[in-house]
Amino acid sequence: MKYQRSSALFDEAYKYIPGGVNSPVRAFKSVGGTPIFMKSAKGAYLTDEDNNTYIDYINSWGPAILGHTHPEVLEELKLQAEKGFSFGAPTELETEIAKFIIENVPNIEQIRMVSSGTEACMSAIRLARGYTKRDKIIKFEGCYHGHSDSFLIKAGSGAATFGNPNSPGVTQGTAKDTLLAKYNDFEQIQDLFRHNQGEIAAVIIEPVAGNMGCVLPENDFLQNLRKICDENGSLLIFDEVMTGFRLAFGGAQELYNVKADLVTYGKVIGGGLPVGAFAGRNEIMDHLAPKGGVYQAGTLSGNPLAMRAGLKTLQIIKNDPNFFNRINKVTETLDFEIGKILNEKGIAHKINRKGSMMSVFFHIHSVSNFDEAQNANHALFNNFFHQMLTNGVYLPPSGYETYFISDAIKDSELDMTLEAVRKFEYS
Ligand code: PLP
Repeated sequence: MKYQRSSALFDEAYKYIPGGVNSPVRAFKSVGGTPIFMKSAKGAYLTDEDNNTYIDYINSWGPAILGHTHPEVLEELKLQAEKGFSFGAPTELETEIAKFIIENVPNIEQIRMVSSGTEACMSAIRLARGYTKRDKIIKFEGCYHGHSDSFLIKAGSGAATFGNPNSPGVTQGTAKDTLLAKYNDFEQIQDLFRHNQGEIAAVIIEPVAGNMGCVLPENDFLQNLRKICDENGSLLIFDEVMTGFRLAFGGAQELYNVKADLVTYGKVIGGGLPVGAFAGRNEIMDHLAPKGGVYQAGTLSGNPLAMRAGLKTLQIIKNDPNFFNRINKVTETLDFEIGKILNEKGIAHKINRKGSMMSVFFHIHSVSNFDEAQNANHALFNNFFHQMLTNGVYLPPSGYETYFISDAIKDSELDMTLEAVRKFEYS
């Protein structure tokens, strides 16, 4: 494949944008090489500026669950654009999407729209702190909840990719209120609660982690978190920015039958436009401004274009009784067939999968926390990534990310993907 135009565009971007990109993981720094500049996307495919096409397993990092530029969502956007881009005033549409979500997701009574997953998580912990009148939160190593200060401590995703999970610029004062635990290690959680009695406002978790690669909660981990939070008057926050409307319509809450006190959303909820949200019971959400004292706001919150794209996307998913079965089955096939090919090649690996999220770790052992994810063979992953790319398959450019499977991946895309895996050579 030729990447001439992408290379030239990257050189130009580098002069004006820090590192040439507006979000670090796009820079291909961990896998090496030049990032590819995209110009269009349709269904399962991306087309770059050199006219190469790729089967997309990133799907804009999750939002494009229907595949790219879905015609019905596009139509909604066109209709809305005719009426106005942004009003900065309430619209009926905001109530419509809020009502639709609340009626179809377990255990939430009010929802506040924001413009990103970062904002959703940042606001959720502020609300948890305001509600409980406590300062400390517990987060898990390798989980990523966006780039607000409290979370950039042993964070996953791009922060892990660049070996910078604790970002400079986060003050010690902020860091001291973020307590860390290993994913799937309930004893550590018990210790933290013992040593910080009456001080923990909330435990925040990706109920299925996708930012250290895909890592699943084991045994009764989520149920145990629910129990210990109840025993200690702390809130349990599910960060469902990745898992919401993806693992099930009601996300991990529905799938694992565990109720969180606050839930954050992003990605799918915006149908490809910049949206996040956080939600919970009345008793907690009533503490938000303007009703309560916990301040939170946004110029573009509830933006009509974003709400249209989000609502249409959610309606398409909800109205298709076979939706989750279908994307889960495609993901299961990928897992099974990739595993078979790698076994035939004698390449040690572990594939983690839940619903339509999965990761291939080049590891001899199972991966159930950040340490184990770090111990995978990332050099081999990088090699795999580049060979897949050359063969027209666009995987996340880091071993610390999850693949997001879209409904646009059909048998022919599966066949082409597996053919690319068969061509994988390693030494
Ligand atoms: N929470 C999780 C679980 C995420 O995966 C992400 C982003 O990938 C975020 C929060 C932050 O969302 P955003 O990038 O929209 O700010």
